[in-house]
Amino acid sequence: MAGPGRYVGDVTEGITRVEDLPQAKVSQRRRNYRRRLCPECGRSAYRVRTVVRRLHDLGDPVCGRPRDIQITYSQHHCPGCGVYFNADMDDLALPKSHYTYRVVHAAVRLVVEDGLPYRLASWHLWREHRVFVPFATIQNWVEAGGKKVRHTHRR
Ligand SMILES: [Zn+2]
Repeated sequence: MAGPGRYVGDVTEGITRVEDLPQAKVSQRRRNYRRRLCPECGRSAYRVRTVVRRLHDLGDPVCGRPRDIQITYSQHHCPGCGVYFNADMDDLALPKSHYTYRVVHAAVRLVVEDGLPYRLASWHLWREHRVFVPFATIQNWVEAGGKKVRHTHRR
């Protein structure tokens, strides 16, 4: 039966090879500085290198493609206390995470608010937001407490 409410399967259903999935749109961000203040002692710390990090964000539901953010950022070394640290990216993602806060929050909401099991939440994120998150990762986020994640986000 034709009409706006007719069932249309996900275009990626049945695809088994990663390279056949829609390509991510990549947007560039820069957090690359010559100098930053040391978070430990407050002295000025020079950049020692520039690094690139890729984060998976919520995708584009209109064109059905995933979205990645590529951040070019600086790493610094403090001559005062010897500490190494990165340019601040706490507004975008947790340290070492491969996903933006937007993905983490969407995933935690699916489980906590909508009561979806982890596997279904994982599938929903792919189908509606074009971001692939293994269900075990979602489970870690939920068990770590949505609280902690939200807390770090609001600074
Ligand atoms: Zn220092």
